Amino acid sequence: MIKSYKHIIWDWNGTIFCDVDLGIEIMNGLLHQRNLPLLTSLSYRDLFTIPVKDYYARLGFDFAKEPFEIVGKLWMDEYERRKFECGLYDGILGVLDSIQRLGIGQSILSAYSQHTLDQMVDHYGLRKYFTHIAGLDNIYAASKLHLGQDLIERLGVGKQEAVVVGDTEHDYEVARAMNADCILIANGHQSKTRLQAPGVPVLDDVRSLVH
Ligand SMILES: [Mg+2]
Repeated sequence: MIKSYKHIIWDWNGTIFCDVDLGIEIMNGLLHQRNLPLLTSLSYRDLFTIPVKDYYARLGFDFAKEPFEIVGKLWMDEYERRKFECGLYDGILGVLDSIQRLGIGQSILSAYSQHTLDQMVDHYGLRKYFTHIAGLDNIYAASKLHLGQDLIERLGVGKQEAVVVGDTEHDYEVARAMNADCILIANGHQSKTRLQAPGVPVLDDVRSLVH
């Protein structure tokens, strides 16, 4: 399903890097300390959104009492400390490899901070697959729209020559802004029901991209 494209633009968290359970666990620690209702893996996938500030508001955090910048940093500090408890999605290396063999270019476009993104891509030995690795210059996962527009210009690919592969509605919004196609994978940070709303292909497993 990807053979017609010249370039694949990958999301990182929840698409290549399987960090859903860790994200929920850390958030439940913060919610518990504030006597707020805890997440289940089902409710998480219905509530998580980007910008993540909106997700925190949905969970009941009161930014008048505790600014988002403070609580968001608590979550991120814990995530940074524990991120290597996570791993890559099953089969992702084979998928990256197959796409490379097809002669299709690949990049990463992530709302994660550039510094950590570079560190993790190197840790997992993935740099050889990607021509561009674009992350944010801060830790607050606000939006990657502007990064996407910048990336598509640098890639120099035309309309429908690139496809964004991601796990959230935000990936779809970014793809639209970039005039790129979008394929969503439903085993990341949002539920399949939410991902089906925009009407783009939704896969249960990233391996289906190349089979
Ligand atoms: Mg993601």
